[in-house]
Amino acid sequence: MRYDRAAKTAALATDIEVEDHMADYQYNRVLLKISGEALMGEHEYGIDTETVTRIAGEVAAAHEKGLQIALVIGAGNIFRGLSAQATGIERSTADYMGMLATVMNALAMQSALEQIGVPTRVQSAIPMQTVCESYIRRRAVRHMEKGRVVIFAAGTGNPYFTTDTAAALRAAEMDCDALLKGTQVDGVYDSDPKTNPDAVRYETLSYHKVLSDDLKVMDASAIALMRENNIPIIVFSLQEMGALDAVMAGHGTSTIIKA
Ligand code: UDP
Repeated sequence: MRYDRAAKTAALATDIEVEDHMADYQYNRVLLKISGEALMGEHEYGIDTETVTRIAGEVAAAHEKGLQIALVIGAGNIFRGLSAQATGIERSTADYMGMLATVMNALAMQSALEQIGVPTRVQSAIPMQTVCESYIRRRAVRHMEKGRVVIFAAGTGNPYFTTDTAAALRAAEMDCDALLKGTQVDGVYDSDPKTNPDAVRYETLSYHKVLSDDLKVMDASAIALMRENNIPIIVFSLQEMGALDAVMAGHGTSTIIKA
């Protein structure tokens, strides 16, 4: 193949531009956990395409700057093992159903991201090779290095876990700089900001305080895993435009949970 100096120079210029942007960012590789409920929009159930497209736009904006992003999406908008158990379905079976529901959400997000030009791969912890890739850690890392957004589906692949724990596990495996938890509120408050106008948002919190005060940020197992691996958890609002980008740059409104 002929050496094309012009193409090489253009590619290098793009690399330098991306690196310039990267200097502005505190976190270069992150795992973003999105709860299933965040995809419902105004509805009480299911997937609201407009909302998925809006969140995909947030991810695309951060991705455009050259940041490496992986996603874990829950399934509370479709199916929760614990609630289904109450209706008489055996717990493990109900949990497998919950995990399958996360695959639906992952495919919806993949579709939304690809429609706006973001290359993605879905990797499922439960192999289903006609639908998506199976989870292979080294392959996922490679995808991210190549600029693809990786969406991890089917949680941990095990019943009795949640997608919060799956997010923490993948964040550790992918050697992420931070675990971002996108929620409906812009951080962790000392009381419910929806009912108490005087509620105060914590700027930072220690893993220890979150665990000992049983603050409902994420599952205890997810917090413990992040503590062991010293990965900060950043709780922020996915409702606000540009919040993801701001948080990755190290500013923006959030609560940072660290040692
Ligand atoms: N689930 C599971 N193992 C996992 C992840 C999820 O069994 O590793 C099941 C569990 O039944 C859970 C459901 O999938 O209720 C949906 O996940 P989650 O409740 O974490 O979704 P979110 O609250 O984030 O929308």
